[in-house]
Amino acid sequence: MKETNSRVIPVVSPSMPPLDEYIEEISSLWETKQLTHSGPKHVKLQKQLEDFLEVEHVTLYANGHLALEAALDALNLEGEVITTPFTFASTTQAILRQGLKPVFCDINPDDYTIDVSKIEELITKKTCAILPVHVYGNICNVEEIDRIAKKHNLKVIYDAAHAFHEDYKGRSVAKFGDISMFSFHATKVFNTVEGGCLTYCDDLVDLLNSLKQFGQKRNSDEVPYIGTNAKMTEVHAAMGLCNLRHIEEYIEKRKNVIECYRSRLSNIDGIRLCPIQQDVKNNYAYFPVVFDAAVLGVNRDQITDVLAKHNIYARKYFYPLTSDFECCENVCDSANLPVADYISKNVLTLPCYSDLEIADVNRICDIILTEISK
Ligand SMILES: *Cc1c(COP(=O)(O)O)cnc(C)c1O
Repeated sequence: MKETNSRVIPVVSPSMPPLDEYIEEISSLWETKQLTHSGPKHVKLQKQLEDFLEVEHVTLYANGHLALEAALDALNLEGEVITTPFTFASTTQAILRQGLKPVFCDINPDDYTIDVSKIEELITKKTCAILPVHVYGNICNVEEIDRIAKKHNLKVIYDAAHAFHEDYKGRSVAKFGDISMFSFHATKVFNTVEGGCLTYCDDLVDLLNSLKQFGQKRNSDEVPYIGTNAKMTEVHAAMGLCNLRHIEEYIEKRKNVIECYRSRLSNIDGIRLCPIQQDVKNNYAYFPVVFDAAVLGVNRDQITDVLAKHNIYARKYFYPLTSDFECCENVCDSANLPVADYISKNVLTLPCYSDLEIADVNRICDIILTEISK
């Protein structure tokens, strides 16, 4: 009888420090009872991240989404924001929740980042900013985006949720644009369970700190802004301190996973992998694969189902495009996005996390290769 492996393989799974290490890290909280409000763990993590990401300022948040909203809020934007529809819901929702209008730009067919050759034709008198995404950790064409932004006097906010600890030409990814947002969600390369941060050089420290604390000015009774509550707690910051000690090891393990996938799935007709980006120090966040049904005779959805039968849960990430969300209907224009539309309908993100075993990566590849050779 055929052996079935019933162990579930999720698409993503958190990297976690040894339990003892975390317990030791949080034990002081039982003495100080300072659980939130920029306590010592928060202060320490912020400082460590400023060094680690080589950036002047880091502001920590309860999650990446609220960080992104805060970035748009702090830059005092009004009007239209040029962005990509090939992203997680958060990017588009942050724009909408800040009362701004997303204007969708198509993506590159190879790395799925915003197609910079199509940005300028979307600029109108109302355009105030560009919000690109370093999707799957693929770095956007930052030079060209910078040139366009300067020429048209636009702000640039990067959704760098996937790009933690990446470099481009030896420069930390946290340094590009006016502000970058990183997510520290449980399933991201670096996690604080839930969490996130903004990185920036301008003097926005006090404003951002007020906005995440109900708009209050620090050490004062004044409330000059309409803010929200988006603070990172001490227990979350403690998880970050532990995970940061292990980050190189987590990334190394992801690298092994992705190198195995690449060795098995490269140079196969009908299977498209993202090219390895030149000049980029990668973090191996995700492994997206585009299945060309016309060549393979089997489509992305069928591959998804076959894997699911083996308890392997690959994800149609990102499908649908955010421009096709019901909440975007009648609000934004979702036409003229042929590349994003094609990729979204044919891409599958295969399981990728630091604890994924190489034997399982091989098993996943075996199942896919068997299916497409039928
Ligand atoms: C995870 C993610 C976010 C939001 O992060 P949270 O920390 O979950 O709020 C934003 N953008 C992208 C592209 C993401 O993948």
